[in-house]
Amino acid sequence: MMNADNPSAYPIVGVLALQGAFREHRRALEKCGAQTREVRRRHELTGLDALVIPGGESTTIGKLMVSYGLLEPVRGLAREGLPVFGTCAGLVMLAGEVVEGDQPLLEVMEVKVRRNAFGRQVNSFETPLGLPALPGGQPFPGVFIRAPWIEQAGPGVELLASHEGRPVAARQGNLLATAFHPELTDDLRLHDFFLDLVSSR
Ligand code: GLN
Repeated sequence: MMNADNPSAYPIVGVLALQGAFREHRRALEKCGAQTREVRRRHELTGLDALVIPGGESTTIGKLMVSYGLLEPVRGLAREGLPVFGTCAGLVMLAGEVVEGDQPLLEVMEVKVRRNAFGRQVNSFETPLGLPALPGGQPFPGVFIRAPWIEQAGPGVELLASHEGRPVAARQGNLLATAFHPELTDDLRLHDFFLDLVSSR
């Protein structure tokens, strides 16, 4: 997306910093050559080329987005085409619907998600994931922490990876989402993939 406020070649990526793993996303994005900005206030959305919504607790992130006046503006920007990458709780926030839940959501992606879906006894695990959209061909290290899965997806959603037959990564136009945490690994391919999406818009 051409951004008149940012003539430099390096995109400015906001990282929603209300709660959760935002520092790790900043580090990964900066390693990929982006500039980053922590976003807690509405005015900090101005001039961004993209936004990342990190993992954490989606009920908390949603409530804080409402009370900081960020839910509506982020929804509007995402609908206008701002690239947004949501990981884990960030995927939940992007979703149109949550199974058995009533919590503030952005409702911008045609997916229905099930929270904490991979079983209570296995809250956290790492597994290699096939992600053919990424270069290199080697599996992506999937770090799952009380992760959701995608229960249903609309026709505009491209599923990028699955685990145990459940979709765990998806793209819909300007929106990218993973149920796992690429920011907690040294593999930068998904952040690079997102930045390619940002520069192609
Ligand atoms: N279980 C959390 C939620 O539903 C997500 C966990 C995470 O982001 N690591 O919001």
